[in-house]
Amino acid sequence: MNVVVCVKQIPDPAAPGALDPNTHTLDRSGKLILDDSDAYGVEMGLQLAAGDGDEVILVSMAPNGETSGLRTALAMGAAKAILVSDDALAGTDALGTAKVLAAAIKRAEPDLVLTATESTDGYTGTIPAQVAELLGLPSITFAKKIAVDGGSVKVERQTEAGYDEVECPLPAVVSVTAGVVEPRYPSFKGIMAAKSKPVDVLSVSDLGVGADQVGASGARQEITDVSKVEERAGGEIVVDEGDGADRVLAFLEELKVI
Ligand SMILES: Cc1cc2nc3c(=O)[nH]c(=O)nc-3n(C[C@H](O)[C@H](O)[C@H](O)COP(=O)(O)OP(=O)(O)OC[C@H]3O[C@@H](n4cnc5c(N)ncnc54)[C@H](O)[C@@H]3O)c2cc1C
Repeated sequence: MNVVVCVKQIPDPAAPGALDPNTHTLDRSGKLILDDSDAYGVEMGLQLAAGDGDEVILVSMAPNGETSGLRTALAMGAAKAILVSDDALAGTDALGTAKVLAAAIKRAEPDLVLTATESTDGYTGTIPAQVAELLGLPSITFAKKIAVDGGSVKVERQTEAGYDEVECPLPAVVSVTAGVVEPRYPSFKGIMAAKSKPVDVLSVSDLGVGADQVGASGARQEITDVSKVEERAGGEIVVDEGDGADRVLAFLEELKVI
């Protein structure tokens, strides 16, 4: 079984990058790391594609031929990667990104495509469904448990109330939540092996995606404004003077959580 895992390489959240004052997009010119949320997809892929001849193939779109995040996922155990990197991609919006990813994924002829539910940098949460639609494949989102059974995939799909059991034929695109599996840490042996694993670097024209579909000129979305998230208000400390429990109860009732 071929499992493709989409992995986004993002600026290190520990050193927040600058925003371009004109386009309001994140500066991605430095070293990029594997988005934490994609480590779950990589681990799930490795567990599902554990048989003889099975492979996990990574697909990523990132600037400047960046492979640092891909190497982390290769060190976890993925077999190889396809990286789409091209100056023409600067300013590409979510739909353009999905078109590029779909074209790259097609090359790997996957039985199953895994993504995270949303990335952790400039997330829209729209890529998984867009990729599925572009590939003409079924889409299951918010997977907290995945099992492949012959030619179909069975998913426990997280909902607000619990989970739904959903099944669809393969190939399919499934987005996973952080609860799906516990990602492994790359071993030293894995890190060394990852250095020589193949990364196929492709341009937009290699994929046959029209130049008018990508880049700032192909974008149908525009980031018009960016504002800071409101800081959290300070909490209230309840000093127990015999009435502590009642006051906590009243507070929770006011919030309508009980
Ligand atoms: C107007 C506009 C301009 C932009 N300009 C730029 C720019 O100049 N440079 C730039 O780098 N970005 C730019 N972006 C952001 C870039 O296009 C995003 O990668 C894209 O919007 C999709 O990412 P997301 O985080 O919204 O995906 P989400 O839907 O939140 O991600 C869900 C999952 O899809 C997969 N996925 C998402 N993106 C990728 C990827 N790139 N590679 C592999 N897997 C992926 C991952 O598994 C991810 O967890 C721009 C966005 C907009 C709207």
